[in-house]
Amino acid sequence: MLQEKGKALKKPVYLDHHSTTPIDPRVLALLQRIQKDHFGNPASAGHAFGWAAARLVDEAREKVAHLFGGTAREVIFTSGATEADNLAVLGVAEVYGSGGGHVVTSNLEHEAVRGPLEEFARRGGRVTTVVAGSDGRVAAADIADALQSDTILVTVMAAQNEIGTLQPVTEIGRICKQRGVLFHTDAAQAAGRISLDVERDGVDLMSLSSHKIYGPKGVGALYVRRRDPRVTLGPLQFGGGQERGLRPGTLNVPGIAAFGEACRLAKEEMGDEAERLHGLREQLWTALEGELDGVYLNGSSEHRLAGNLNVSFEGIRAHRLLGALTVLAVSSSSACSSGETRPSVILEAIGVPPDLAMASLRIGLGRFTTTEEVDFAAAKIIAVVRKLRG
Ligand SMILES: *Cc1c(COP(=O)(O)O)cnc(C)c1O
Repeated sequence: MLQEKGKALKKPVYLDHHSTTPIDPRVLALLQRIQKDHFGNPASAGHAFGWAAARLVDEAREKVAHLFGGTAREVIFTSGATEADNLAVLGVAEVYGSGGGHVVTSNLEHEAVRGPLEEFARRGGRVTTVVAGSDGRVAAADIADALQSDTILVTVMAAQNEIGTLQPVTEIGRICKQRGVLFHTDAAQAAGRISLDVERDGVDLMSLSSHKIYGPKGVGALYVRRRDPRVTLGPLQFGGGQERGLRPGTLNVPGIAAFGEACRLAKEEMGDEAERLHGLREQLWTALEGELDGVYLNGSSEHRLAGNLNVSFEGIRAHRLLGALTVLAVSSSSACSSGETRPSVILEAIGVPPDLAMASLRIGLGRFTTTEEVDFAAAKIIAVVRKLRG
């Protein structure tokens, strides 16, 4: 039977790894060392301080590229995935769209992609949004059907940030290659969790975020393919010539080096970690499903990030659930704006009925989540759901 054990657990228990991840202690050690010892500007080509900083950035570029089979020269460091998404969408529009053009996307995208696409439309572009199935996945064939003669870009995320569903990136990439259309994928949630390979997957542009893979906040990258085809982007910012003029400004050397190390660790440990997280997720789901009636998993159970569980509890309001679960750091996937709670657009998009969409929890397990924490979380959720229902 489930017991509320683990008095020694640190509380609240952090189960919100899609929102952000704690920095890995090994990454933190490197970050602190560089912050302290290497203050040089990598653009200072005339002295040893600059050379040392430039070398750290070069090494990080290699490590980041290695995570997804790219080359170091194809990595543009940014402030995060939001900036990378903006640069990909609006940078492509600038060069290939010339004030118009057509882009294909999905209805599962993060605001960081939806926002620049709205801006693209304001500037005269057209956007077709392909609707995902009730399993939370986009069909590659629907992407193919949506392509038009002047389509300049397809942008579909690799893994969804609320329901964890994995999108058919390899199939979409193949279609884009055949049709000569550029393919961008927001891999903020996928990077370091599933295998990504820009050659195999036919990816031309890919966004990454350091703080989603146990690195520091405020750093990320955009992969920009340089061969077959050579992708050119229009810059969104102007100033110095850093990052091939696409991201001018002095580089965040400690953050970049730490991000590189986070990528290296993720690549090395991805297989074991996914297996362990999958086991923990099964442990949690089995407990919830075994002890409670009216619990529903949102999104495909098969094509899913190992650490993600998005569950609806019949007859419950998520904000009341969260209110009673302060000992767990989880998120309700309903959006709260102007004091009003509305169902998540993602759950709506995959056809979850409003009542169940308002009754959902997103649970994100991570690298440092323990089996005791999962036991504790399961017992808490079960107790609170029973109480609220009773
Ligand atoms: C977190 C996230 C982003 C934003 O990343 P930042 O580095 O915080 O800007 C973009 N897309 C997805 C899918 C995300 O999960």
